[in-house]
Amino acid sequence: MTAPVLQPQPEVDVAGGTPAWLVCDGCRRMIYGRRFVRGGHVCPECGWHARLTAAQRVDLLLDEGSAEIVATPVTAADPLGFVDTRPYADRLRAARASTGMPEAVLVARGTIEGCPVVTAVMDFRFLGGSLGAAVGEAITGACEIALRERTPLLLVTASGGARMQEGALSLMQMAKTAQAIGQLDEAGILTVSLITDPTFGGVAASFATLTDVIVAEPGARLGFAGARVIEQTIRETLPPGFQTAEFLLEHGVVDLISPRPALRPTLARLLGVATRRPTSAPASTVHDAAPGREVVREPEHLVQRHPWEAVRLARRLGRPSALDYIGALVEDWTELHGDRAAADCPAMVAGLGRLDGTPVVVIGTQKGHTAAELSARAYGMPSPGGYRKAARVMRLAAKLGLPVITLIDTAGAHPGIEAEENGQAVAIAQNLRLMAGLPVPVVAVVTGEGGSGGALALAVADRVLMCANAIYSVISPEGCAAILWKDPAAGPDAAAALRVDARALLTAGIVDGVIPEPDGGADVDPLGAADALRAALTSTLAELVPLDPPTLVSGRRARFRRFGTPTTPTPATPITAPPATAPSVPAARPPMGGHRSTADLDEARRSS
Ligand SMILES: [Zn+2]
Repeated sequence: MTAPVLQPQPEVDVAGGTPAWLVCDGCRRMIYGRRFVRGGHVCPECGWHARLTAAQRVDLLLDEGSAEIVATPVTAADPLGFVDTRPYADRLRAARASTGMPEAVLVARGTIEGCPVVTAVMDFRFLGGSLGAAVGEAITGACEIALRERTPLLLVTASGGARMQEGALSLMQMAKTAQAIGQLDEAGILTVSLITDPTFGGVAASFATLTDVIVAEPGARLGFAGARVIEQTIRETLPPGFQTAEFLLEHGVVDLISPRPALRPTLARLLGVATRRPTSAPASTVHDAAPGREVVREPEHLVQRHPWEAVRLARRLGRPSALDYIGALVEDWTELHGDRAAADCPAMVAGLGRLDGTPVVVIGTQKGHTAAELSARAYGMPSPGGYRKAARVMRLAAKLGLPVITLIDTAGAHPGIEAEENGQAVAIAQNLRLMAGLPVPVVAVVTGEGGSGGALALAVADRVLMCANAIYSVISPEGCAAILWKDPAAGPDAAAALRVDARALLTAGIVDGVIPEPDGGADVDPLGAADALRAALTSTLAELVPLDPPTLVSGRRARFRRFGTPTTPTPATPITAPPATAPSVPAARPPMGGHRSTADLDEARRSS
């Protein structure tokens, strides 16, 4: 693998170990040496990230004076007596002499902005950062220290892959390190990897990608097979940017890309949330709602109106989106991306942060306020990858013991060929089962449209709330009208018959409470709406956080078990009032229209 290397210019002065001038291998421009070093060895002209030694990396990441290097065990060198064009023992000796390191990894304890961390940092200079027995032993040792001391683990990877000169023993290091990460998962300890250029083969296919959060430096390449091998095998030219961090973010493999100067705050935010540092802001002073009034639990306290009115209000483009609410309510937010398989669905957002000081995981469907935003967010209709991203982040919440908050505003799961090819139904079904068993508090809020299974896939919760102008329905009213009335214009009749509004759903016990909206609706006063949501969430979490996992899970299962039993309450008053105004065209419909075609459903009914 060839990678750019910064070349000191021999004709310029060299002072203090830093060449006065360098040539960037990214843009070939001359860079002033001191400026380059001050910027973390990043080219100030083009942003190219030069490789760092393990020692430079530890200096860059850990708080000054906090690093304590942990001696790694010496393992049998050259177990096979391997000789290629040169004896392996000679290569090892040369690598030790040129790097001053005993092996290709450095293990250290320390802090990042005050947050304790155990770190193992690979050094590509040492035989290409290859994974031999000593490296596997050091990585595993770092995992074991993190486990013993219950401290988050940070792995900084740079490697060409397994070390061939150690044969199958090197291959076994993949399994050994993978199981060490698995033990940290069982113990609920956060693991983070920082992918640096390049990370390939056995390292990419073991500890580098098994961590809870995968952060990558810009341009860093990660993959199993190298680009040259792939090109020779498939005899095709690879797309530009193939295997770079940016490519992998788009394909759901990495969570986020952080430029080197932003790494410390990025990592500190994550570590801080996971290690539950005490809150700085007292929870109860942030909002002034009277205790117990944050959520309406009596249907008669809600205005009675035609459900079609609620449908039109719920679809208003100005209503706050999940990211609007998160921006207003969640501190130290880190958005996580990707399903770790194939995609990063733009219609689903998920991440970690704090709500009034309490660490939480927040997951939401994301629409937008303009045509361009809606298109970029797939009209808020998640793909299977979106549901799998949500599931992955829920499992992380379960691992770390963090409450889960879901914010739901979707017309439904995305209907499309690709969604079906990728198992949309399976992804939704698996979320229902996963959520039912999550050992942490789960609060779901329908903030706008709660459309069908695509909404329920985020709403199997201990408490299900909805905003006063939201709707929640088994199918869109238009879809129902098209099938049963044979006339999509009968949407208002269908909305009334389906009882999709907050008052009806509270009466039926489908939702546990309704969050009041500012006069005129959430879109008129988004900050007021966010305050109301904050009050509802904090008071609901205050009820749930003290409960132990078995109590939460059994309560949640009982909540959903009761639907359809003979004791389930049903609304008493029929809805007769017609809508006050003519039905408006729905604000934003995806190009494909409703959920399913009439023909499909007719066929389904005939066959059932
Ligand atoms: Zn450059």
